[in-house]
Amino acid sequence: MRKVLVLEDEENIRSFVVINLKRAGYQTIEAATGEDALVALKENPGIKVALLDIMLPGIDGFEVCRRIRAMDNKIGIIMLTARSQEMDKVTGLMTGADDYVTKPFSPAELTARIDALYRRIGGDMMDDGEIQQPPFVLNTRKRTLEKNGQRIKLTQVEYSIMKVFMENPGKALSREEILDMVWGRDYFGELKIVDVNVRRLRLKIEDNVQNPTYITTVWGYGYKWGF
Ligand code: CA
Repeated sequence: MRKVLVLEDEENIRSFVVINLKRAGYQTIEAATGEDALVALKENPGIKVALLDIMLPGIDGFEVCRRIRAMDNKIGIIMLTARSQEMDKVTGLMTGADDYVTKPFSPAELTARIDALYRRIGGDMMDDGEIQQPPFVLNTRKRTLEKNGQRIKLTQVEYSIMKVFMENPGKALSREEILDMVWGRDYFGELKIVDVNVRRLRLKIEDNVQNPTYITTVWGYGYKWGF
């Protein structure tokens, strides 16, 4: 279940947001003050996106954003700004927000922004340690990969490469980056080892190895996991 924190002190706006997010398949954790939101985040480590209203009775949304960022760089943060607050966008992004939505907003707009943020912060991170990108499911706890429900046997290195790819969908990754992330910065091997492993991985996961569509080559640079 994809969890979203909704921080909004006005109850009618909060329930409007919550109803629409639930309808879109999200699980919501509600908070009416910044202080409560920070507690809720500590109690729910599975929250990957937080919606923060700015004008609040206690500490404001910017301060909440700052404090979240001080503990967590990965969580996605969307500020809910009022149209009259022209400076909010800039201030919000300065304090570490990823995006903002201006009130009044449509449910479709809000869920589109959250969906996009979820994709950007690394696939569909599920609470149970799964990254789901159909037809693939990577289980980060069991270190397994399935394609269309069928288990694909991978070496530890191949698994680690798949994890790097699935955590960075659509991003061109250089061979050096892949080498650093999989083998570690201390590794003094040749970049060719990346190519060899990618070739093997393609044999296992592509529908047609002659025409790979999941792991594509970025000429003169590296590889991309993308659809
Ligand atoms: Ca408010």
